[in-house]
Amino acid sequence: DQIPVQRALVSVYDKTGLAELAQGLAAAGVEIVSTGSTASMIQAAGVDVTEVAQVTGFPEVLGGRVKTLHPFIHSGVLADKNVDSHMDQLAEHDIAPFDLVVVNLYPFVETVASGASQPEAIEQIDIGGPTMVRAAAKNHGSVAIVTNPEAYHDILTAVANGGFTLAQRQRLAVEAFAHTASYDTAVATWMADNFDDAEHPAYAGHALELKESLRYGENPHQPAAIYTTTTTPAPGVAQASLLHGKAMSFNNYVDADAAIRAAYTFTEPAVAVIKHANPCGLAVAAADADDAIADAHRKAHATDPVSAFGGVIAANRPVSAAMAAQVKDIFTEVVVAPSFTPEALEILTTKKNIRLLQLPDGFALDTKEFKQISGGMLVQDADMYQAPGDNPANWELVAGEPADEQTMADLVFAWEAVRAPKSNAILLAADQAAVGIGMGQVNRLDSCRLAIERANTLGAASTGAQDVSTPGGAENVTATNAPARATGSVAASDAFFPFADGLQILIDAGVRAVVQPGGSMRDDEVIEAAKAAGITMYLTGGARHFYH
Ligand code: 5GP
Repeated sequence: DQIPVQRALVSVYDKTGLAELAQGLAAAGVEIVSTGSTASMIQAAGVDVTEVAQVTGFPEVLGGRVKTLHPFIHSGVLADKNVDSHMDQLAEHDIAPFDLVVVNLYPFVETVASGASQPEAIEQIDIGGPTMVRAAAKNHGSVAIVTNPEAYHDILTAVANGGFTLAQRQRLAVEAFAHTASYDTAVATWMADNFDDAEHPAYAGHALELKESLRYGENPHQPAAIYTTTTTPAPGVAQASLLHGKAMSFNNYVDADAAIRAAYTFTEPAVAVIKHANPCGLAVAAADADDAIADAHRKAHATDPVSAFGGVIAANRPVSAAMAAQVKDIFTEVVVAPSFTPEALEILTTKKNIRLLQLPDGFALDTKEFKQISGGMLVQDADMYQAPGDNPANWELVAGEPADEQTMADLVFAWEAVRAPKSNAILLAADQAAVGIGMGQVNRLDSCRLAIERANTLGAASTGAQDVSTPGGAENVTATNAPARATGSVAASDAFFPFADGLQILIDAGVRAVVQPGGSMRDDEVIEAAKAAGITMYLTGGARHFYH
């Protein structure tokens, strides 16, 4: 099933490795047909080449929009060598068939990413290239199609060995169609974003490329892989590089993403510690801290040192040596950050089992979120801080004294932080750090109870810093020797209190100020409870942060 390579059509935008390829093909006696600048470069490499225009008897026109779009070219690509009538018709019109097509496309994605104008981007939509790629891939029974310059070496090997086998041509055809599909999706997505001024631009789809196969998915019996997308405006966690440690697992990626989402909520230096996609630690640095990111990590770890065991830590600033020294003694799955100082790397790479993940240049949180459901996909603008009620200037004081500066700062922190845990979420904060988080409960009452219990049983003093790196730390926890951190803390609720009962639990535990959306049918009851207790309560005017 091998087809010897006698005639090749070569038309590439990316000229990497082209000279060597052309020399190799020529040495093997292959005739090369090429477009304008591809042909020029092949000639410059001292190799004979036939210009497409010579084959078609028609020049490249419309500024290159029409080069290879011609029956003399496409009949040569699409003719099935096993069908006599095809070969007879080629002979009749004096057309020679191609055995190999080497094409790579105009760099549409890169052009858009560089901030090019609309007309420039449109000119970079390759038409003739994908047409050749698709034609050759369809006709893989007779033609080999190569789109990746990294595969040139394999081409020359195949040519030397008597041509590509059917299995090789089939594999290349799959790659080729995946390539043009991803290319067209990138075009469609860009057009949807640029042409549609509706509030929710049409979702054109993800252009996905396989990054790597993963050992398994959420559980060992689930095969899994990670894909990157070029259709989001900026690279994210999927494009991060692993600087140290074992390969990232499926769950590592999920948690690293949740951790980054939590840490990058804040503009101040911040650290999040994540377990099972939920935060068990979250803090921003004190303004006067010597080493801000180390301070944020110290405070985030103290939120819940028991749960931090085996966690995924994200920092929104480079990891410093001081932070690394703290992390070193805590069993940690992953540290993800924009970068690591050389000293931090030196400290952390002594730990064999830790993974150090560096975010790509130009990293940004995605502005759109997609959620797969069976048979389809949900899409929404990501929950950033775009709701009017996210601005504390728009909060309404409905109970108690106006918050002093420090209390207000903690309320603002709590409101920003409560976006990170899964709903229903109640987050207690003190000193710009979470001190108790109740999350993922199916009623708000339980979230309140959990937040208080965590605040009052899991304080740093209850375990002692030396215990936190061992699973046994949890067993040492007792309510009697833990600081009652709920007392004097402030609270944020990710959505309104449907009844006063949840709020009452917070009040009874000594919470002194609360921010919540409001908007419940029983707001009056809830506000009355706050007033009766003399605590401060702000409403965000309905802005909420459900997260599931
Ligand atoms: P060259 O640099 O050789 O002048 O052009 C190579 C590029 O042109 C390749 O990226 C190929 O995909 C693209 N190309 C080849 N034929 C056509 C065509 O007929 N129309 C358009 N728009 N692009 C083409």
